[in-house]
Amino acid sequence: MEKRNVYMDYSATTPLKGEVLDAMMPYLKENYGNPSSIYSKGIESKEAIKQSRTKISRLIGSKSDEIYFTSSGSEADNWAIFGALKGNGKHIVTSKIEHPAILNTLSYLETKGYDVTYLDVNESGLVNPDDLEKAIRDDTALVTIMMANNEIGTIQPIQKLVKLAHDKNVLFHSDAVQALGNIPVDVNKLGVDMMSFSAHKIYGPKGIGALYIKEGIEIENFVYGGGQENGKRAGTENVPAIIGFGKAAELAMNCLKEHVCHCLDLRNYLADELYAAVFDSHVNGTMLDRLPGNLNVSFDYAEGEAILLMLDYMGISVSTGSACGSSDSVPSHVLTAIGVPESRIHGTIRFSIGCFTTKDDVDYVVKAVKEVTKKLKELSPLK
Ligand SMILES: *Cc1c(COP(=O)(O)O)cnc(C)c1O
Repeated sequence: MEKRNVYMDYSATTPLKGEVLDAMMPYLKENYGNPSSIYSKGIESKEAIKQSRTKISRLIGSKSDEIYFTSSGSEADNWAIFGALKGNGKHIVTSKIEHPAILNTLSYLETKGYDVTYLDVNESGLVNPDDLEKAIRDDTALVTIMMANNEIGTIQPIQKLVKLAHDKNVLFHSDAVQALGNIPVDVNKLGVDMMSFSAHKIYGPKGIGALYIKEGIEIENFVYGGGQENGKRAGTENVPAIIGFGKAAELAMNCLKEHVCHCLDLRNYLADELYAAVFDSHVNGTMLDRLPGNLNVSFDYAEGEAILLMLDYMGISVSTGSACGSSDSVPSHVLTAIGVPESRIHGTIRFSIGCFTTKDDVDYVVKAVKEVTKKLKELSPLK
């Protein structure tokens, strides 16, 4: 089998699209003006930021002044949570399968006297709306539930969940970092009050994210200083990254349909071929409400880390349970929450497909996984 480099970890990060880099270049070179400066060179940068904001707002159906740039998706998640807590009660509702940017922020708040309810999910990874309704209390300040999960790709019924929170006058935030660019995201239709995004998951640069804050929603400032981001998040703007984010959003909007079809076709092909090639394999989560590019599979008789390293040797980049769990062996909280037994969690690989993945890539990965899992099974004392 001829060695090939295959990147199949688009949920961890995506490569920059060429058009995105081209759009950024002038702002890394000659257009270095500070957007707050009032001479031409500054105004040029300010104008460019404005256009980026508009491009992102078009992708999510918001107004452009409802977009606030942050340093990352993680910062947007932090801001949404801390910002919503200004004296509004001591209780927050979330799900058990959130990203660490949400879960670790909330566990910090628990040490500061806040009370957090972690909603269970079913074997597909879905929150039960009845559970949410029951969890909301008089002192609930915020509900935060992600739109699409980064490990198993589950897409939550956000619109329905928002309605339940709003019936009780509670703010709703959703982490849509994985959803953006991969499924339609319309903040008005969903009804969310706040939503988090990150550029490097949609073929944009790293280190730039955004928080959508619905007009009229008052949340606390996150960084104090200058007047950037409508005075709510200070710091001279990362202009090249913002331009890149805007370009990536524009491209995502233009190619969403084709992108979804491309990912779905290849993901389903990968799932079918793997199922046929590796007898002892099990797909985690549901194939219905799932991100088009996501496949999460457990292999009996093989450790995820061993599979990952052997695939890496063959030129393939994938993830175990989650990127954040890849350097230790704590079982994934997401797979635990959907009821995957611990022994099986240790043998889990996440494959995530994106716009540069080809059918030849999938064929190569299937062959490699077949070979690697066969080898590991032969060595396994469990078989
Ligand atoms: C990647 C990711 C984040 C974090 O975004 P960064 O920009 O890397 O900080 C948050 N939530 C989800 C669901 C993610 O996949």
